Amino acid sequence: MTAPAELKVKHCSRCGVEIVWARNERGRWMPLDRVAAANGRYDLQFSGGPSARFLPFDDASALRRRGGMTFDNHFKTCTKRGQKK
Ligand SMILES: [Zn+2]
Repeated sequence: MTAPAELKVKHCSRCGVEIVWARNERGRWMPLDRVAAANGRYDLQFSGGPSARFLPFDDASALRRRGGMTFDNHFKTCTKRGQKK
């Protein structure tokens, strides 16, 4: 499963995988993996612009059980994180 098409898909400038950008609770933009993760901790919402909400572990599990999708922070999953562009 992947994030809905409303989101603009970009490619990570370091590793090249597809990512989407959303605002976190503090209003900061962050990259998320476009492909939903089986153990993701972010809920993506689209009303009023893409936003990412960090979920407690149990809430993320509950969301998936209801058929929702959870996503990972790409800063965490990037295979080339920390490398210079
Ligand atoms: Zn990357």
